[in-house]
Amino acid sequence: MSSTFFSTGTPEPGTPIYTRYDSPSWHEFEEAVAALEGTPVPGVLFGSGMAAIAATLSLVPPGGRVVLPRTAYNTTLALTDSLTQEKRIQVRHVDITDALEVTPSLSGASMLWIESPTNPLLEIADLSALVNAARTRGVLVVADNTFATPLGQQPFDFGVDIVVHSATKYLSGHSDVVLGIALAANDLLRSRLTSYRSTHGAIASAMDAWLALRGLRTLGVRVERSQLNALDLARQLQDDPRIAWVRHPSLADDPGHSLASRQMMGYGSIISFAPHGGQHVADAIVERTRLWVPATSLGGVESMLERRRRHLHEPDTVPEDLIRLSVGIESVVDLWADLDQALDVVQ
Ligand SMILES: *Cc1c(COP(=O)(O)O)cnc(C)c1O
Repeated sequence: MSSTFFSTGTPEPGTPIYTRYDSPSWHEFEEAVAALEGTPVPGVLFGSGMAAIAATLSLVPPGGRVVLPRTAYNTTLALTDSLTQEKRIQVRHVDITDALEVTPSLSGASMLWIESPTNPLLEIADLSALVNAARTRGVLVVADNTFATPLGQQPFDFGVDIVVHSATKYLSGHSDVVLGIALAANDLLRSRLTSYRSTHGAIASAMDAWLALRGLRTLGVRVERSQLNALDLARQLQDDPRIAWVRHPSLADDPGHSLASRQMMGYGSIISFAPHGGQHVADAIVERTRLWVPATSLGGVESMLERRRRHLHEPDTVPEDLIRLSVGIESVVDLWADLDQALDVVQ
C-alpha cells in the first residue's frame, strides 16, 4: 500500500522508489496477464481501460492516421474524435469485418485499431488478413481483447504489437474495480507505455491490483461457465418469436461465425439482440428483469443487460432497440426463466 520506499542516492533501475513510477503491487497481475496473452514482456497496468487506450494512442506520431472500426467501443470513438478535433491525430473509420475496405486505408497510416468481437455489435475482424496487411505497410497493430479475453483469443499469435484490455471486465470479473492493462510484444513498446503512465499519472491503486489478481484466479472457470450459458441463451433467443434478431458468433448463421470458429477458442459470453416492437419495448424488458442486473459494464459474475442507445454518446451505428446481454455464471435455467418472463412485454 505504500506510496514511497526507503531509498538513498541514485536509484538502481527496477528498485521501487515512488508508486507513480512503479509499484511492486502491480507486478503479479502484469506478469499473469502477459503469460495468459503469450507475450514475454509484462503488461502495463493502468487506472482504467481508457487510460490504457489513451496511453496506446499516444504512440501515434503527431498528425498520424489511426484506422479504427466504425463500431468500436463508444469511449474509444469519443477519445479518437477529440484527438482528431485537436489535430493531434487523423482517424479513418472502417468496416472492420471487410478486410478489402480496411487494406487500402492502411497505406500511410500509423496505427490499426482492431476490436473483435466489437462492442456491442459482435462483429468479427479477420485478424490474420488485417495484421498481414498492416505489417507489410509498417503499421502498428493494436487489438482490444476485452470481449474475447486471453482464453478466447490470442492476438499476439497473429502478430499484433499491443493488446489492451478493460480489466474492469472479465479479467477482474467481479464488477468491483475499474482497471486497464496494455500488453506489448517487446520491451521498447512497453517502456513507452510505462513512461506515459508515469508522466500522466494514469496509475492503479495497490488494492485494486490485488482485487484484480484475486479475480484473475477464477478467469478459467468463469469464462467456461459464462460461455456455456451464452451458447444456450443465444439458441433460445434465436428460436423465440418475440425476438427480431440476435447476434452471437456461436450461431451458425451469424455473419462472424466461420471466422470466429477459425480464430477464437470460444465465442464469448456477450449476446446482442433486439425484441420485436422497438426501443420502448426494449426498455420495458430491461426494467422487468429481476435476476439480470440492469446496468452498464460487462464481464462480471452476475448477468447484466442494458439498451445501449440509452447512452447519448453511443454511436448511431448501434440500433436503438439493441439490448446487450453480459452473461454471467448463474444457473442458465434461472437466467432463461427471468428473460422469458421479461420478454412477455413483447405483444
Ligand atoms: C469497457 C471497455 C473499455 C473501457 O474500459 P474502462 O475500464 O471502462 O475504462 C474499452 N474497450 C472495451 C471493449 C470495453 O468494453
